[in-house]
Amino acid sequence: MPECVLCKYSGSKENETVYEVLQYISESAGRVHIREVSKQAREALNSELGLSLVDEDVEEHITTHTLDQRVVLSSILKDLVGIARTVKDCSVVQDAESGAQAVDTKALTAYLKTIDQITAIYKMESMRSLNK
Ligand SMILES: [Zn+2]
Repeated sequence: MPECVLCKYSGSKENETVYEVLQYISESAGRVHIREVSKQAREALNSELGLSLVDEDVEEHITTHTLDQRVVLSSILKDLVGIARTVKDCSVVQDAESGAQAVDTKALTAYLKTIDQITAIYKMESMRSLNK
């Protein structure tokens, strides 16, 4: 597997354009669709470094290599929102015969815990950009 160019330049200011591309990836996390981010980054990197990267190269870096806090937390946030929705649907149960509704306290507790985690991520300093 060839070395990932984005990993190579991570945390480095050696090349101003590449540094800006990495900043752009970080700042776009959770706000711009990954396909668009990858396309923009790929175009800038290819023209600056004379490479022939494809969108998927950048996308792979974003989804599996980077530990950039905003990128990782944005991904976790999306997962948590999905989990919250699923758990919420399970928290009210209906009796098949009587049709009476009851609250599944375990599911409700899990739901509230998930909401707490979501709220905590939004409150983090690095995630403030998502609040605008
Ligand atoms: Zn990488």
